[in-house]
Parts: sequence; structure tokens; C-alpha cells
Amino acid sequence: MEKLLFGTGGTPHTARTPSAIDGIKRIAELGLGCMELEFVYGVRMAETSARLVAETAQGLGVKLSAHGPYYINLNAREPEKVAASQERILQTARIGALCGAESIAFHAAFYLGDPPEKTYQAVKKNLAEVMNQLKKEENRVWVRPEVMGKTSQFGDIDEIITLCNELDRVGICMDFAHWHARSGQANSYPEFVAVLEQIKNGLGDEAIANMHIHVSGIAYGQKGERKHLDLKESDLNYTELLQALKDYGAKGLVICESPSLEADALLLQESYHRL
Ligand SMILES: [Zn+2]
Repeated sequence: MEKLLFGTGGTPHTARTPSAIDGIKRIAELGLGCMELEFVYGVRMAETSARLVAETAQGLGVKLSAHGPYYINLNAREPEKVAASQERILQTARIGALCGAESIAFHAAFYLGDPPEKTYQAVKKNLAEVMNQLKKEENRVWVRPEVMGKTSQFGDIDEIITLCNELDRVGICMDFAHWHARSGQANSYPEFVAVLEQIKNGLGDEAIANMHIHVSGIAYGQKGERKHLDLKESDLNYTELLQALKDYGAKGLVICESPSLEADALLLQESYHRL
């Protein structure tokens, strides 16, 4: 990536229709740089539509990423639930790649009371099978488990970094809102820099030059994330986050997942360019 691009998680609210194509057109009109295709309730896009999405995005210079279904748990007890989870990641990667997305994000697993190490081993084994399949298909999309916001969810920064180091083409989706909600901390310039430092130390300069970031305002409690909020209704210190990203030379996609998608994506972009 040449720079940091800002966009929305899903079609902007002010698009003509909720379709991906109208979403991409609206992103371009607003002067934003990217959009995440939200397959959160299932991957329901035909291959022909995906090719049109790719053409539209390329023509307008909008970069795309994709978000896999919520119903994924690579640490599920039942083998059929694991298989269905793997299939959902594969579907996201296949349609995402046809759409021209270079990166897909998803929520990897719940601990379900298991020790983190046991959960890690299950996630690693089951994700390795997905990655082997994608390799066979010559699908080169980056598969990125997200840093998660609830303490019941697999995915702190260390877990994801270790996974990235063990599996080829697996990257980190750094959700700064989730990470803040998970700990109640990580909300100041030095803490944001420390996160970037941790990623750089764990995964090298390439990881900082090709980031997939999620940001939104967030409400949280003892167990972490409660819900997403608009930036100005939340305590997320987004100005210091943007300053850290700028000072650190981070490049890639910043996907805004606030309820008022494009308003906050524009706020982030404008604040970043004012720094
Ligand atoms: Zn997510």
C-alpha cells in the first residue's frame, strides 16, 4: 500500500441503494479511499456480481476488503460447526478475491471456557486447513483474524501475531476499538505507538506497510465490548491514534465501523490529513 486509506465497513448510509456497487460509487463521491464488503450474515454474492464489483472499484480507484460471517468459531466443540466455520472463511476469501479485495477480516473463535493455549491450538489447526485449501486454489488474499473486543473471544494481539507467524498469508486485522474495549486501556498516544511497535517487532516492517485496521467509537464494560458508538459519543482518543499511525508511517486500510459509517470515516480522514 502507498498510504493510509479511509473508508466504511459496508455500504455508506447515503448511497443510492445498499448494494456494494452503489456503496463503492458513494465512497468515490465522498472522496474516501476504501470500503469493506460486509458478508457478516452470510456470503451471498454471485460470481458475476463480484466481477462487476471488482470492475467498479478498480474504475473508481476504491480499494476493497471483506468481512466474513459472524457465525464462525474455529474452536467449536462440534466438528460440523468447525467445518461450517472453515467454509464461511473460504467463501469470503473466494468472493472477496473475485471482488478484487486483497484482505479479508473475520472473528476467529470463542474460548468457551478453554484455556487460551488450547483454543490457540484448535484455531491454528483449523485455520491451517483453510489456508492449505486457498493455496491449492491459488487464492492469494490476506486472511486476517481480528483483534477482538470481548474477553470471551479469542484474539488478543499476541495470539494473532503468533498465528500470523505460524501460518502463511495470515495477517492481523488490528481493531483499535476492540483492543481498547478489551482492556479498558490502549487509548493514548504512547499506548497506540506500543501496539504498532508490538506488530512491527512481531511481524516486521511489511505488516506496518500493509495494515488492515478497524476503528469506531465503542462502549465497554467489565467483559469488554458492549457496542459500537460514533466517535464523538465515545471516549476513543482517535486523534492520538491517527497521530501514532502517521508518525509510525502506517499504510493500508482504515475501515470505520461506527454506526454513522461515512460521517466518522470522513472525520478520521480529515483529522488525519490535518495532522
Ligand atoms: Zn469484525
